[in-house]
Amino acid sequence: MEKQKSNLDKRSEESKSWRHLYKTALWQKGRAWHLRNNPLCVFCGEKGLAVPATVVDHIKPHKGDRTLFFDQKNWQSLCAPCHDGFKQMLEKNEWRPEIGLDGWPVENDSHCIEAVS
Ligand SMILES: [Zn+2]
Repeated sequence: MEKQKSNLDKRSEESKSWRHLYKTALWQKGRAWHLRNNPLCVFCGEKGLAVPATVVDHIKPHKGDRTLFFDQKNWQSLCAPCHDGFKQMLEKNEWRPEIGLDGWPVENDSHCIEAVS
């Protein structure tokens, strides 16, 4: 219990230190460009579903590393349910909708999650 709490605190502390990266013009432009060129969710696509992507996700967690953060080879287009659901399932093994890192509201739509799991 103690361990879980401190892990959560640590993660939010860490994310604070790199949150500003999401506000940079380079990211905003790159993100829009990536979504234009890769408009469909990668995870849903693997399941044969054509779902519009709204989030650019980092394949390898950047943890504040600018090189990884701005490396377009490390980007993938995801729909919000896949982005938040998949990452959260990885971390907590549960599904909890919320606002994504990009500020996009997570749609109440679980079909992607079912497809991923
Ligand atoms: Zn999806």
